[in-house]
Formats: sequence, structure tokens, C-alpha cells
Amino acid sequence: MVLFCRGVQTNAPTCAGRPVCLPDRRWRTQIYKLVDTHAHLDEAEDLDKALDEARKAGVVVIIAVGQDYESNLKTLDIAERRNHFVYPALGLHPWSLGKMNGSKVDLTLRQIEDNIEKTVGIGEIGLDYDKRVIAAADRERQKEAFKAVLELARRHDKPVSVHARYSWKDSFDMVKESGVKRAVFHWYTGFSSVLREIIAEGYFISATPAGEYHDEHRRAIRETPLQNLLLETDCPVTYGREIKYQARPSDVVRSLGAVAQIKAVAENIVADKTTENALRFFDLPGRIEKA
Ligand SMILES: [Zn+2]
Repeated sequence: MVLFCRGVQTNAPTCAGRPVCLPDRRWRTQIYKLVDTHAHLDEAEDLDKALDEARKAGVVVIIAVGQDYESNLKTLDIAERRNHFVYPALGLHPWSLGKMNGSKVDLTLRQIEDNIEKTVGIGEIGLDYDKRVIAAADRERQKEAFKAVLELARRHDKPVSVHARYSWKDSFDMVKESGVKRAVFHWYTGFSSVLREIIAEGYFISATPAGEYHDEHRRAIRETPLQNLLLETDCPVTYGREIKYQARPSDVVRSLGAVAQIKAVAENIVADKTTENALRFFDLPGRIEKA
């Protein structure tokens, strides 16, 4: 039988007679239940195909995150049409602030609160101290928006998905001070000292496919116990060093493989634990069985 994996002909073996094409083009004999805890599905090119691939790769739940008013609207719509597979989180990303005036920020905060019952979390939110981001929205403006959205999360007891690039300490301090109980510092690459505080507080970090090659992210994964780890793709981000590719939710198997390799723990153990973590973090137990 001639098999194709992402358009590339392969002689790889089939899995129990049923060929499963995984994104890293490695044919696996075992498919695990996985949760992609951070995906920008509103930016996906061929969403139906991407979701179909994800199911075949073992993905049982995708948390779709929004970043501004328009992407939140799309995210809600996508989740509504993929009940029990895609669950929405609504957000206010620091990258979006530079393009928003004060009334648009207020409108987005109201939108998040008005739809809070439909969501399983708030994100993507956070702070980004990259100089280009600060030029568009300075630290004070970012903090003001972050504080407002954290207050919403606390009031409604929702978990938050936090972007903390170059702002690891400030982001952690603000989350802790807000009283939010569940937080994931997604794609964490920051200081080990802050990571220790994140872990001590019972918060999480999430591993992306960059765990295959990015030194700072690999160190963070190594230093984080499995009980504080989630998996994600942040799709459609472009990953890779020599060979670049645009991520889809099925690429969460790469995150799984990276964590297993870094920690020298079997993939099935990493899959079971991170999926259990994700379902509890987003308060989803029982929903998969109903699907
Ligand atoms: Zn993201």
C-alpha cells in the first residue's frame, strides 16, 4: 500500500492496520489521548482538516484561545460548532493592545464577562516586554489591562493562560496578587527562580513543540514536575530550526515527544499525566465521556 504523510510518500508501517499520519512524520505504534491547551484556531488555514488530523493523532480536547474582540468572536463560534472537542477561552493579548483604544479595551473586557459561562478559561492574556511590543503599548498600559482581566478571572473562578515573554517576574507577581487560583504560564522560557515560584504556587507551565530544540524551553520543562505540566501547540506558530513548519493542533504529539525525551519518561506516562492535568485545570472531567 502506498501511504502519504502530509503529501510525502512513505513506506512507514501502519498502526494496527490503520495508518495514522502524525505531524512529525514519525509513524507511531501508539496513539495517546492528548489535550492541546493553547491553540489559536481562529487563525487556522484549513480548520476542518486540522481538527480531523488532530483527532487522528489522539487529541481529545483543544482549548481555543482568543486575543482581542474579533478573535474572541471567532473562537466562540468555532467552539460552538465543535461541541465537546473545542472549548473556548477568551482573551486580551498584549500584542493586541497597541491596536486598541481605551473603549475597545473596555468593550473586550465586557465581551469576556458577558460570555464567561461559555468559556473554560481566560486567555490569552499577559505582559510582553519585548521593545517592539512596549513601543505599541507601554508597560503601564499592559499592566492595567492584565490587572482588569485577572480580576475577571478571579471573580468568576476561571483559569488563565498567560503570555509572559520577558516579563516573567511581573506576570507571576500580578497573577499571584490577583488571587487567581489556576494559571498556566504558556510556552515558558523564563528564569528558573520565577519557575520555582510558579511551581510552589501550584501553577503550571505548558510545553510547545519548541521543546524539541529550544534550550531555554527545554530547561524549563526539565525543571518542572509532570504534575505542573500541560501540553500545547500555540498553533499556527511557525516552529523548527533547519526545517520550519506551521503548527497545527496535531503537533501536540511533538510537545509530548519532547517532554518524554527531556524527562526520560515513557510517552504514555507523560500523556496520561498531562491530559489528567489539563482536564482538571480547565474543569473538564466527564465532558469527554459525554462527547
Ligand atoms: Zn498564543
